[in-house]
Amino acid sequence: MDNLFIYNSLTRNKEEFKSLHEGYVGMYVCGPTVYSDVHLGNCRTFISFDVMFRYLTYLGYKVRYVRNITDVGHLEDDVAETGEDKIGKKARLEQVEPMEIVQRYTNGFHDMMRIFNVLPPSIEPHATQHIIEQIEMVQRIIDNGYAYEKNGSVYFDTLKFSQDKGVYGQLSGRVIEELIAESRDNLKNQDEKKHPADFAIWMKASPEHLMRWNSPWSIGFPGWHLECSAMSTKYLGETFDIHGGGNDLKFPHHENEIAQNYGACNCTPARYWMHTNMLLLNGKKMSKRDGNSISPQQLFTGDSPHVSKGYSPMVVRFFILQAHYASPLDLTDEALQAAEKGFRRLMEAMKTLKSLESPSTVQVGALDQEIKDLLAEAFTNMNDDFNTPKALANLFELVTKINALKGGQLHIAEVSVQTLEHLKKTFHDFIYHIFGLLDEDHASDGNGVLDGLMQLVIDMRADARTRKDWATSDKIRDVLKELDIQLKDSKEGTTWTKG
Ligand code: AMP
Ligand code: ZN
Repeated sequence: MDNLFIYNSLTRNKEEFKSLHEGYVGMYVCGPTVYSDVHLGNCRTFISFDVMFRYLTYLGYKVRYVRNITDVGHLEDDVAETGEDKIGKKARLEQVEPMEIVQRYTNGFHDMMRIFNVLPPSIEPHATQHIIEQIEMVQRIIDNGYAYEKNGSVYFDTLKFSQDKGVYGQLSGRVIEELIAESRDNLKNQDEKKHPADFAIWMKASPEHLMRWNSPWSIGFPGWHLECSAMSTKYLGETFDIHGGGNDLKFPHHENEIAQNYGACNCTPARYWMHTNMLLLNGKKMSKRDGNSISPQQLFTGDSPHVSKGYSPMVVRFFILQAHYASPLDLTDEALQAAEKGFRRLMEAMKTLKSLESPSTVQVGALDQEIKDLLAEAFTNMNDDFNTPKALANLFELVTKINALKGGQLHIAEVSVQTLEHLKKTFHDFIYHIFGLLDEDHASDGNGVLDGLMQLVIDMRADARTRKDWATSDKIRDVLKELDIQLKDSKEGTTWTKG
């Protein structure tokens, strides 16, 4: 099989992937900031990295995949480093503990990942559980001369770092002089910073700030970028294989992560930086503020002016895989309708393929080689920077052949027993293991148990109603309500939705 090539955002080149330790891959992806419901854009990024995690595992690597939960330090304006902590603000407005906010939205995030059949990472560290590691890292950066303390806050010295190492701005393509000029105006704590491009790695907490810890410099909290440097180093080592995230994180988050790691350990954290592109809605950036957004739930139920109907989570997952992770992806009703048709055609072909059997005598023809070539090409495309749309296109060429074999336009006797087995196994592996798709009727919990149980509950409620056993039917309804599950009765029967 061909070797794997990855587009490295750091070098801006497609490079052959060589893991640091043979057979092992360390991958870190910036996880969600858990102050609100996960949005579809986030889902795109996590689904994309899920496919990479699955594919690397499929290739035989032992992957340690670390995806963090950001639960402190992410300020409202993360470039200017001003405003409240996003989680602290939500907690203040709702008059609850910040950790209640964190728990609620982490649960919601996990639910959504399960719905999209995204595998859990190997480690999911929280920033607030790694304050000691972050304080130690700040100290190391200070000791190495790349950070300074001012009034209880600690800032990274970007100019000194840039002069010594010459790599600040390498990832984002920003030039330090431009950055300084750009950020000179209206920055909070400007007087504390030596240069406007410097960024906080520890911030002294104001009296009203909720999340705070003791440190050698002040009672305060870590800067947003620090958590990823500290947690990736802890779990994957000072240098590891892949670091990923959405391309909106290139600057300042990832640029500053690289600076911090250099500052603390004198080495770049990741060898390959990978960035997913943004999800758009009807050609414009998805944004809650402008009303140009749709939640995953709205997309599933169809309860949004942006869609004509609901789409199942697997149709949405398939839709996301139809674009390369590094290209922008525009979500439109028409594109989703097309994805729904494509997805169903693919899954139908999977069933048809299972039913195909080799006859007792075969006479291998050209078709045999064509099938083998298409399967090989699908892997070649995955090895070309995880090109899922092209690999899917290969599978669809195979769908045409599978349907023709079933319909008799092509002859199964032309395919060797081995090739048919190879086709069945590889097709199955691609759909279920690499792309992580599920049959729609099994999609809600990954194995159909939940759907089965829900159908049982719905049937029991219907029986109770027929018997006029209102106590039982009310109890079922109340318990489901507590679980945030809604039943919808219609002529076709009863369906259920969660959330
Ligand atoms: P956040 O919760 O904002 O910290 O983001 C979590 C992850 O989702 C990060 O890797 C972001 O880069 C990514 N992300 C945010 N918005 C989008 C979007 N519209 N499309 C794709 N990825 C996104
Ligand atoms: Zn991060």
